[in-house]
Amino acid sequence: MRLSERPVLTEAHIAKRVREIANEIAHDYRERELTVVVVLKGGAIFAADLCRELRVPLTTEYVRAKSYSGTESNGQPHIEIAFDEPLKGKHVLVVEDILDTGRTTSVLMRQLAEHRPASLALCVFLNKPVRRVIEVQPNYSGFTLGDRFVVGYGLDYEQRFRNLPAIYDVRDFTPSQ
Ligand code: 5GP
Ligand code: MG
Repeated sequence: MRLSERPVLTEAHIAKRVREIANEIAHDYRERELTVVVVLKGGAIFAADLCRELRVPLTTEYVRAKSYSGTESNGQPHIEIAFDEPLKGKHVLVVEDILDTGRTTSVLMRQLAEHRPASLALCVFLNKPVRRVIEVQPNYSGFTLGDRFVVGYGLDYEQRFRNLPAIYDVRDFTPSQ
């Protein structure tokens, strides 16, 4: 398994886009208090940067979603929800690393909707619309990618590479490497 020598998205490129999305969100929520629901583990780094750029009052909650082993979705997302505050009546913004087939996100959004928030929106750092199996439209999206598997900035390959500050392509998949 190898990573691309050059990042697909550089740190500077990412930082600029995160600021732009934060400004867009701050404008849209200027009269509402936000509850940011961070989807672990992948969304943690993007959400940390995004929240620091969001100059509006907000609270954070965390859910854990697991759907992948290696580079293939097993199609059965597992979601753990443990909120401090009920989401009922709150303006909820879900922050995720990547929207791929849509399986994980569609299940998550359905489960969150059952908590009866006042509003429910989705912000993804990366969007791969060509991979979609279940229709899901993000309200905010950082970058659109084709059918490629990437790591860094929170995204892993078998739990590694989440700490890379830029986004890299994964090349030459062989499970044993
Ligand atoms: P979905 O249910 O939309 O197929 O998958 C969403 C999850 O799959 C993401 O939260 C992420 O953990 C994982 N995933 C999808 N595409 C990629 C990718 O290109 N790189 C990495 N590292 N994870 C991905
Ligand atoms: Mg993952």
